[in-house]
Amino acid sequence: MATVSEPVKRPQIRQTQCFIGGKWVPSASGKTFPTYHPATEEVIADVAEGDADDVDAAVDAAREALEKGAWSKMDARDRGQLMYKLADLIEDEADELAALETLDNGKPIHDASTADIPLVVDCLRYYAGFADKIHGQTIPVRGNYFTYTRREPVGVVGQIIPWNFPALMVAWKWGPALAAGCTIVMKPAEQTPLSCLRMARLAQKAGIPDGVINVVPGYGPTAGASIVKHPGVDKVAFTGEMSTAQTIMRDASTTLKRLTFELGGKSPNIVFADADLDAAAKGAHFALYFNQGQCCCAGSRLFVEDSIHDEFVDRLAEMNTNRRVGDPFDPTTEQGPQVDQAQFDKILNYIEIGKSEGATCVTGGNRAGDRGYFVQPTLFTNVQDEMKIAREEIFGPVLSVLRFSDFDEIVKRANNTSFGLAAAVWSRDIGKAHRIAQKVRAGTVWVNCYDVFDAAAPFGGFKMSGLGRELGEAGLQAYTETKTVTVSLG
Ligand code: ADP
Repeated sequence: MATVSEPVKRPQIRQTQCFIGGKWVPSASGKTFPTYHPATEEVIADVAEGDADDVDAAVDAAREALEKGAWSKMDARDRGQLMYKLADLIEDEADELAALETLDNGKPIHDASTADIPLVVDCLRYYAGFADKIHGQTIPVRGNYFTYTRREPVGVVGQIIPWNFPALMVAWKWGPALAAGCTIVMKPAEQTPLSCLRMARLAQKAGIPDGVINVVPGYGPTAGASIVKHPGVDKVAFTGEMSTAQTIMRDASTTLKRLTFELGGKSPNIVFADADLDAAAKGAHFALYFNQGQCCCAGSRLFVEDSIHDEFVDRLAEMNTNRRVGDPFDPTTEQGPQVDQAQFDKILNYIEIGKSEGATCVTGGNRAGDRGYFVQPTLFTNVQDEMKIAREEIFGPVLSVLRFSDFDEIVKRANNTSFGLAAAVWSRDIGKAHRIAQKVRAGTVWVNCYDVFDAAAPFGGFKMSGLGRELGEAGLQAYTETKTVTVSLG
């Protein structure tokens, strides 16, 4: 493992307060919480700890902006222009934002600057173009009437996001909400509030009117739950754990809020013997280890056809051995630390469970180094479907390899999970690949590739992996209400 260089390069941290109604304010209670650099476990900033009172103020500001302010009167095309401006400002500051992301989340600077931030910019631009293209319909009805529909903003939206792609999750949430004309109360994850606060400052600089975007940092059961329960919030968009979504669904039931969820997964990645094995091995490695394994769509159940199993495992093991784990600010680093102590402990516990369940640990199996939340790239073979490591989401650099030998068998086993976020298949037989794509119950299926994301391509889960879709035109649905207007023609 490369050592963590001292001192860690630090971008300037300029925003640590709540952003409400266009003002930067401390939390009503005056409380703050620390956010850490996961590579060194050092506190990097104390951030305002919002709670119910701050959420109340943020919802008031969002409601005012929705109903009375400049935003409510703005032409849709002008709204789009403000979004383009925000994307431009983020692009101008891309290096600094990427560094902020690496500091707060621990992800390698290479990933933050070549994946996260460019995807943020692309997503905002994609949705900016939609602002003036959200159309209703004219509908032929019986009788002497003229009927048309309007797609109006759903209203004040509460957006609660996780820590694995902090800035990108902001873009996925703000993009469709702003395009649709909604106003926002966002709670970033307590582990990674900094890039969201920086983006709020850039939104202000771009000229997005006060109150349209409000950010209340804080914890889930306090600030997060206050957003979910607030009668002034019309919709909640949440990305995180399935069990949190269940709590949110219960809490939202009193006010019957519209809900969209993007949750976890245990995605099957299926490699047939007739695949391009070089590409498949690189793809399988990337599918799991990218972002320290902290991806909801991670290809964590790798099914490899019997006849190529051993050779394929050798390739994976070699890649793991050569993987550069270390200082996330080193541009050559491929794997940084996990985000926090809780995730680190959970992953190491799953590794112990895998060993005790009888799986074979081929690489890794321990922490890396003695400071920071680094985990060795870990590879288990001899994994059986019923083992915990094959059923539960680990959210870390731990890959389970399972064998298969037959098409019908693999379809059944791939679907034998309560999750349904993503799947992938590797084969040169195009018909077989498409048949898998049709039969696997997952929101996204990649064929001979993995983790290909685009702002235009809908993403979300079947089954317990989610509710609704994000990205693409589909991602706009949840941010509009359809109103039907019927006019008597006399
Ligand atoms: P993770 O375990 O990956 O942190 P969580 O689902 O716990 O996933 O967190 C995702 C987001 O949901 C975070 O912003 C977190 O603060 C928030 N959250 C956690 N619990 C609740 C809750 N009860 N109500 C609303 N938001 C919550």
